[in-house]
Amino acid sequence: MVQIRLTNTRTRKKDVFSPLDPRNVRLYLCGPTVYDRAHLGNARPVLVFDVLVRLLRHVYGANHVTYVRNITDVDDKINDRAAATGRSIREITEETVGWYHDDMDALGAARPDHEPRATDYITQMIAMIEALIARRHAYVAEGHVLFDVRSFPEYGRLSGRSVDDMIAGARVEVAPFKRDPMDFVLWKPSDENQPGWGSPWSRGRPGWHIECSAMSAALLGPSFDIHGGGIDLQFPHHENEVAQSCCAHPGAGFAQVWLHNEMLQVEGRKMSKSLGNFFTVRDLLDKGVPGEVIRFVMLSTHYRKPMDWTETKAAEAEAVLRRWRGLAAGIEPAASPAPSVVEALADDLNTAGAIAALHELAGQDDRPLFVASAQMLGLLMPEMGAWAEAGDAAKAMIEALLAARSEARKMRDFGRADAIRDGFKAAGVDVMDTAGGVEWALTPGFDAARLARLARMVRA
Ligand code: AMP
Ligand code: ZN
Repeated sequence: MVQIRLTNTRTRKKDVFSPLDPRNVRLYLCGPTVYDRAHLGNARPVLVFDVLVRLLRHVYGANHVTYVRNITDVDDKINDRAAATGRSIREITEETVGWYHDDMDALGAARPDHEPRATDYITQMIAMIEALIARRHAYVAEGHVLFDVRSFPEYGRLSGRSVDDMIAGARVEVAPFKRDPMDFVLWKPSDENQPGWGSPWSRGRPGWHIECSAMSAALLGPSFDIHGGGIDLQFPHHENEVAQSCCAHPGAGFAQVWLHNEMLQVEGRKMSKSLGNFFTVRDLLDKGVPGEVIRFVMLSTHYRKPMDWTETKAAEAEAVLRRWRGLAAGIEPAASPAPSVVEALADDLNTAGAIAALHELAGQDDRPLFVASAQMLGLLMPEMGAWAEAGDAAKAMIEALLAARSEARKMRDFGRADAIRDGFKAAGVDVMDTAGGVEWALTPGFDAARLARLARMVRA
């Protein structure tokens, strides 16, 4: 059996992965808070986990992996959005979940086996909070329930800091009823305009962290194999999940492996609204960047390194995928991927190494093996190929137009030749007359409908 090694934030080492139950390998990924479109950074953990799940299904069997990714549909950002727009919370969360599915589907990310919504697990959260109070790990104060961090000596171990360091370094919310400034909210009261549920403490709503502890326990059990998310979640979110789950289920151990991806940047800078370089997955798709290209660029960088999104990388990825799709046309994948690709992925999800191995396979004769190997990374999937076919149609039109242009030049009909040149420009096709002949490339602003109109006009 292939030996998988993963870098575990908990042990700070690359460890051999050994599932608690190889017949049911269990993973949990923190999912989106649903009030707005997913930005490009949000797609990174989804794609990392998508490849991880593909690898685990390859090694342990398709039916021996359970993948859970939650939806946070109770959060003050959602309440604020509802208040600002006058729309109902339900309407906003439903619409955003639909967008999320469309956008992640477009990247070829398989849906998880379970996608629990926080609002469906309030009962389980209340039960867990009650257990924490009964075990003296939490206390009630003014309608709130707080987790007592001093009651859990291991608090801070996941993120490698002590409670005293945290207090010194963090901007913590001080509240008069907190025993310790690091104590965090498990439950808080709602006013009449905020969503609320009945509880022993107040009509209120859960704090953010408790949902992942309650939903992972309900769907995967109190101990499971891999828990993931972006590195920004390591503290406080994941630290608090560990505290809640370990204190509610003593001895169970919670997540064995913690997997954290580094952040995405744009053209070398942090992606942020104030820098004006913030964009969503949908913005890119609408600009004509194929989902498969976004996927390829994301997987070209190892998940533990900061990843830089650049237009140059996207253009290069598009050219590679176009060539690869040409090689794969009409080829049925082999039954198994190449060991070189599986080995790279098994080594702490070295997706960049796996792509290097694919380049090598692309230069060899075994096309079925090449296709099966690319599909291990969710690339060259038949259902993701429409963009390249559109490219094939464009290619035929461009070649016909270039032939018409050189014919026009030969006939000294320069008006017609210039009209074709201008039409190319308007459609976003770059045409270069070189010593070796004519070369062309689609620019990121390529407009297929404009090109088709030009082709009709020239034919007429
Ligand atoms: P959020 O909706 O902000 O809780 O984020 C959802 C997921 O996206 C979490 O796993 C975050 O860690 C991850 N995430 C947010 N921003 C980035 C980023 N710039 N790069 C990579 N992952 C991110
Ligand atoms: Zn979470």
